[in-house]
Amino acid sequence: MTVRTRIAPSPTGAPHVGTAYMALFNLAFAKKHGGKMILRIEDTDQSRSSKKSEDAILSSLNWLGLHWDEGPDCGGDFGPYRQSERLNLYKEAIKKLVDAGYAYPCFCTAERLTELRKKQVENKETPRYDGHCLNLSEEEIEKKIKAGEKYVYRLKVPDDGVCRFNDELRGDVQFDWKQIDHQIIQKSDGFPTYHLASIVDDHHMGITHVIRGEEWINSTPKHILLYEGLGWEPPVFAHLPLLRNPDKSKLSKRKNPTSIDYYKDVGFLPEAVVNYLGMMGYTLPDQREIFDINEMSESFDIKRMSLGGPIFDIKKLKWLNGRYLREKLTPEEILQRMIEWKANPDFFAKILPFALKRLETLSDFFPLAQFLLNETPEYSPESLTEKMEGGDVAKLLKIAEWEMEKTSKWNRDELSSLFQRIAEVEEIKLKQILSPFFTAITGSNVSLPLFDSLELLGPDLVRTRIRNALEKLSKEGVGLSKKGLKKLEKEYIHKYGNLID
Ligand code: GLU
Repeated sequence: MTVRTRIAPSPTGAPHVGTAYMALFNLAFAKKHGGKMILRIEDTDQSRSSKKSEDAILSSLNWLGLHWDEGPDCGGDFGPYRQSERLNLYKEAIKKLVDAGYAYPCFCTAERLTELRKKQVENKETPRYDGHCLNLSEEEIEKKIKAGEKYVYRLKVPDDGVCRFNDELRGDVQFDWKQIDHQIIQKSDGFPTYHLASIVDDHHMGITHVIRGEEWINSTPKHILLYEGLGWEPPVFAHLPLLRNPDKSKLSKRKNPTSIDYYKDVGFLPEAVVNYLGMMGYTLPDQREIFDINEMSESFDIKRMSLGGPIFDIKKLKWLNGRYLREKLTPEEILQRMIEWKANPDFFAKILPFALKRLETLSDFFPLAQFLLNETPEYSPESLTEKMEGGDVAKLLKIAEWEMEKTSKWNRDELSSLFQRIAEVEEIKLKQILSPFFTAITGSNVSLPLFDSLELLGPDLVRTRIRNALEKLSKEGVGLSKKGLKKLEKEYIHKYGNLID
């Protein structure tokens, strides 16, 4: 048997370090066993998926040196490698599942489902579909479809008994079927959900080992049932612990930069990032700290992975990156890396038009440009509150952070309208609002134009700077308390609409 592993990112945002972490372990396992790693794009959520995000994911994994053997860019014998191009396979599977009695159409309206959920929560029951459409006759189904009623397909889950399966890291795992929902496997738009699409693809792509994040362990019973309904052999499952923020919560961009691009932008070395991800949950038999993917795969044993949630700590990553600079690269190589990074004419050319107005000598360029090269600028907390009280500054910073999460186009005009909107809603002059942002982003009150700077920095670096400003205010005792944040969240939803997850 040839080992085949896969990573299956959804192209719905910036390339996540969690994807790189999964890629590394899938790759180490495949390499160790002389197998292959496949990259599959899971783009069945058409409203959130984009080619831009797919390209960014591929390019950042390539930057890290985590290369796949088959994928949408390089092809392979098991393609296409984008789910949106495999819809016929999912349709076929649905038909098979319905015929075998493992799936059924459901016509319930959103209102009925909300009501049902509410009642179940009130009765302290696990929210779960109640099988209302389970026993519709063929005639009833046909009639409803003809009448144009919208429907989904659900997985028929047993009412009692237990589902048992083996997880390579955890051993025997059991779930009561009672706890498992009648999962929607095809949406009303005809697209499959993750559950159906991923198992159909894992089967047709000959995946032998599904190594994925532990957030999917609760879904595995559904997957086992789908394999059974389709008459296919399930692969081996291994659910890896998720990366965590230093406060042990699941790694999230609200607390930690999660985009691989962030680490590239602030000047980390790809091999140090990969080494650090490798240290998350795995130790080499000789306890060595510095290792590359080849050294890792030589001795890789998935059973030796630790189950504790590994903490992704930027301070540690910086320490390791420093060691790489000093121990692994020659000065010539470092120079070359700096040039590839930002110390190059292309990057300076982007800044120059904005800096021009303020230049008297050539050397004036560097202090002006410095904040575009740094991870975050240095400044005193007082400079944030020169024009406004600390509490108000904190609120505005937070509102802007939330609003920025909603912008799909990161450019100066969008950002300028975003601040305009905040000024209108908050009934504060734009100029007054911009003052603390200027400091938070550039570290000074004389610098390059704000909106152009935001565009050049990109969302990840901007988010980190806003977060730093908020931390500075908190340290001064004028930031947002936990209670204050909750209150602000409510106000925000009322005035600006929902938050993005
Ligand atoms: N598309 C899923 C995700 O991005 C893949 C999960 C899996 O590996 O099965 O989380």
